[in-house]
Amino acid sequence: MSSLYIHIPFCKQACHYCDFHFSTSIKKKGELVRMLCEEIRLRKNELPGKELDTIYFGGGTPSLLSSEELKMIFDAVNDNFEVRKDAEITLEANPDDLSLENLKTLKNAGINRLSIGVQSFFEEDLQLMNRAHNATEALESIQMAKQFFENISIDLIYGIPGMSNERWRTNIETALSLGLPHFSCYALTIEPNTALKKMIEKGKVKPVDDEAAREHFDILTKILKAKGFTHYEFSNYGKPGYFSENNTAYWFGKPYLGIGPSAHSYDGENRMWNINNNTLYIKSIAKGELPLEKEELSDTDRYNEYAMTRLRTMWGVDVKEVEERFGNLYKTHLLNEASKEIELGLLEQNEGILTVTQKGKFLSDGIASNLFFIN
Ligand code: SF4
Repeated sequence: MSSLYIHIPFCKQACHYCDFHFSTSIKKKGELVRMLCEEIRLRKNELPGKELDTIYFGGGTPSLLSSEELKMIFDAVNDNFEVRKDAEITLEANPDDLSLENLKTLKNAGINRLSIGVQSFFEEDLQLMNRAHNATEALESIQMAKQFFENISIDLIYGIPGMSNERWRTNIETALSLGLPHFSCYALTIEPNTALKKMIEKGKVKPVDDEAAREHFDILTKILKAKGFTHYEFSNYGKPGYFSENNTAYWFGKPYLGIGPSAHSYDGENRMWNINNNTLYIKSIAKGELPLEKEELSDTDRYNEYAMTRLRTMWGVDVKEVEERFGNLYKTHLLNEASKEIELGLLEQNEGILTVTQKGKFLSDGIASNLFFIN
């Protein structure tokens, strides 16, 4: 199982909470796309086989790509890899980019799954976050997208300052009324060096209330579960048959190749990441040099990552797998630490699989860090 991730580092405007790598100047978009194709050629032998099971266009804003740019990228992918016949090919899109024409282009290019960055159906939330779209566009873009795609996911954000439980519930119900098979829902986090962080420091925006975020999470899981969605990962809810194959492969530690500025890769052993600067990325690739850094992971790094990613999923931490991959020392440590969490009612063990309980769900990152092995 192999995946290709392609990072499109351009956005129309900077959302106030965002710390991803992107530029709001699209002057270099054409040149950068040519370099993405070049990087695909340069790194075609890095995955274990030639076949790609999933392709994911993330960003930034991949829906800013023109039909010619998309075609160029797909040509480079098809020249250098074999794309599985029924491969999952996702593109992240923003509502303000989705017109009937653009949707047709995406469909014809080979995209078969859309992940739409809706975030909220309320004007006040969208304005606070400085999203480029408004509430009407959020709704209309989904209605239009449904004419071309059935595998659609939308992103929603909860825990936004000033967001009442009622408003959040309305957001979920609006989303449900659209009949979509998948939702990704994130708690708003305040990252360093973001506009939102500064606004909170200056007292212009209320701080994020962790208790409100926890209540929103509980409301969300309850409503979606009742509607037949599986909460298969901390932030992801899908109807059967609609779980993100790309993300699931990542949580199961499958290799992936990340193309573009700031993109991360994993070869099954070690992690690599590209420079997060568009100009330096272009210069380096143009010289045939890969602008990447590599981190050699120790067994402890791998075990800790395994505990963190798997505890966020419904598949949980497999004690036998820990023993086979990392040895008895890690297994004993895991069982010792897990027993404390089990006593607190935050973890449970069934047939050798450790998963978070309903009470522990919102705390899964903290619980995972208590299972970490510290050298
Ligand atoms: S559109 Fe996405 S990547 Fe771009 S600034 Fe907003 S949140 Fe960040």
